[in-house]
Amino acid sequence: MEIELKPASKYERRIFYKEEWNVKDVPDFIIDSITSREFGFDHYGQGPNDRYKTFPDALRLKRFIKVKQPFAAYCSVAFYEKPKQRKGWQQSELVFDVDAKDIPIRTCDCKEGEVCDKCLNQAKDIVLMIKDVLNDDFGLNNINMVYSGRGYHVRVLDEEVMDASSDLRGQIVQYVIGAKEPDLTNNLGFNNLQHFIIPYGYPYNFTRWAKYTILHLTKDSELDNVNKKLLRDVLKERHFLEEDSWGLFRANIGPIRYKRLISAVARVNMGITDTKVSIDLKRILRLPSTLHSKVSMKSTLIKNIETFDPFDDAVPQFVYDRK
Ligand SMILES: [Zn+2]
Repeated sequence: MEIELKPASKYERRIFYKEEWNVKDVPDFIIDSITSREFGFDHYGQGPNDRYKTFPDALRLKRFIKVKQPFAAYCSVAFYEKPKQRKGWQQSELVFDVDAKDIPIRTCDCKEGEVCDKCLNQAKDIVLMIKDVLNDDFGLNNINMVYSGRGYHVRVLDEEVMDASSDLRGQIVQYVIGAKEPDLTNNLGFNNLQHFIIPYGYPYNFTRWAKYTILHLTKDSELDNVNKKLLRDVLKERHFLEEDSWGLFRANIGPIRYKRLISAVARVNMGITDTKVSIDLKRILRLPSTLHSKVSMKSTLIKNIETFDPFDDAVPQFVYDRK
């Protein structure tokens, strides 16, 4: 069956919250800290303007959502002493927001603002790469992946990152998504990241993302300072990257043009995740388990990312019941 990503009607929303939504599907990492978090709701589809909500327990959250059947529900990445006033900030999850509609180099035929199974799959590949870097290079383990309705959220709750400043988060993000060229004159690369020592990972990690981006380029891709001739040559020579023969690739492109390409790729990679979300310590994110009413999909905590398929695992029943 072809799943159509169209908005949910008010009636469908009611059916969803009455018959399908279960507070038990709200992840433990949120329920365990429910009293420290701010919740926000969008009741009319005009943005989350009902904010500063708090709940003492899951039962009270359940009652509220069952009664209000909101257009959208959110909760803070931050923990506060006084969440009702958004005061007394204690710590925040580290978040990576990968929206399929904003991936810089999409290989599907989606128009702007649309998503399909192809770009959603691309978003999933990106999320897996982000998770690997967080695991391997930062030694982080408390990594939760959530399908957001039109993409993915990676939500990290390890103590080492929860108290990080906006500035440090920005640096971590640049590192993780290969958005900053490695300084190869300095083998220690990013070793000044507070808490973290990453002696050799950076060039390797950068290479991995550069390869990913270059292999997704098409003849119509537009990159800063990369003209049509260079792009053509990159497409012609990139088969070397599939064998990880960077030296041959570089030699055939030429060192000056290679440098120009790498700078452009780093800038492209900056768009892989929404950095504004990552550095915002007081952001609210869609509450997993609730409905993304604009596309009629469920935001879902992912148990097994390898097998997760949004078109199987995040489609509410009412979509199947549509005539
Ligand atoms: Zn698409």
